[in-house]
Amino acid sequence: MAEEALNAMEGYKVIIIGGGPAGLTAGLYTSRAYLQTILLEAMIPSGQAYMAETIENYPGFPDGISGRELIERFTQQAKKFGLDILQFTKVDKIELAGEKKMVTAGGKKFSASALIIASGAKWNTLGAAGEEEFTGKGISYCATCDGAFFKDQEVAVVGGGDTAVEDALYLSRVARKVFLIHRRDELRAQKILQSKALGDPKIEFIWNTVVRKIKGQGVVKTLVLENVKDSRQRELAVGGVFIAIGQKPNVDFASGLVEMNEQGYIITDQNCATSVAGIFAAGDVRSKGLRQIATAVGDGALAASAAEKYIEVQETR
Ligand code: NAP
Repeated sequence: MAEEALNAMEGYKVIIIGGGPAGLTAGLYTSRAYLQTILLEAMIPSGQAYMAETIENYPGFPDGISGRELIERFTQQAKKFGLDILQFTKVDKIELAGEKKMVTAGGKKFSASALIIASGAKWNTLGAAGEEEFTGKGISYCATCDGAFFKDQEVAVVGGGDTAVEDALYLSRVARKVFLIHRRDELRAQKILQSKALGDPKIEFIWNTVVRKIKGQGVVKTLVLENVKDSRQRELAVGGVFIAIGQKPNVDFASGLVEMNEQGYIITDQNCATSVAGIFAAGDVRSKGLRQIATAVGDGALAASAAEKYIEVQETR
């Protein structure tokens, strides 16, 4: 490890993993605090928000803003204060070398005093035909983000867990009708959510059913459903479909190092500090109650400020 530390790209105070809203905000804050920071991003600065056609619940943009433009603005602002962004650099591994944090990414090694993990999460996808084509065009993975676009329309939610049932309840306040499509005849969601949804006249349950195909013209128009008991297919006309079949945090590179919950989300304190001193987690990768751009941005600021304090203490010891 000592030899690896010598070969690493040093000189950075902070390494950030992930260029979504949390990572870019953390980078803005650390760079503005004159802490030399490098942000490692597997693709280009993006995150799940990048896919959103219009974001209406991020303050400051009363007419909405596209995910792409918002992320470009975050990137531009962070770079203005000196953030180094290395794109197409996928992180393979993080290790500790004494108090230094070592990151292996894109065939190189990086070392710094503090590390902020902001690598996000990815929604599980159905793998149904048309899913990729209509994502952002009637298919959404976030009801609280996109539900308002479907006012007075008929929409479907796929899944039977807490997220799906909460989404259905949320959408029933906005949409004209909500179909909840579940592959079994029993929900996995908490009983209290189940009874609310079962008693909601605007929610219709479609049991033992999977979505085989999503069809449309420019936007989603119909779902091809298949009953798993008798294999019969039918079409259901909807204006939108919310897929809520779980999500996975992007944390493979950190497993065994920082404490995570049962679903693999990183556990932090209220200042985004993980179980390892000097490693912080921000945004969707963190165990928390609401995963949105606004909360990711808040996490990024908190993690950066905590990293700054950590480095200050290290350097004055
Ligand atoms: P989840 O609990 O893993 O449930 C996923 C649901 O999607 C299950 O009903 C599952 O069906 C279904 N599913 C999975 N793969 C599918 C596929 N390929 N095709 C069709 N259906 C599929 O995920 P979640 O609802 O997102 O919840 C994740 C965690 O967050 C859970 O621990 C949950 O309790 C928690 N959460 C809590 C709250 C709250 O406390 N208010 C709110 C949201 C989430 P099966 O049931 O047949 O497996």
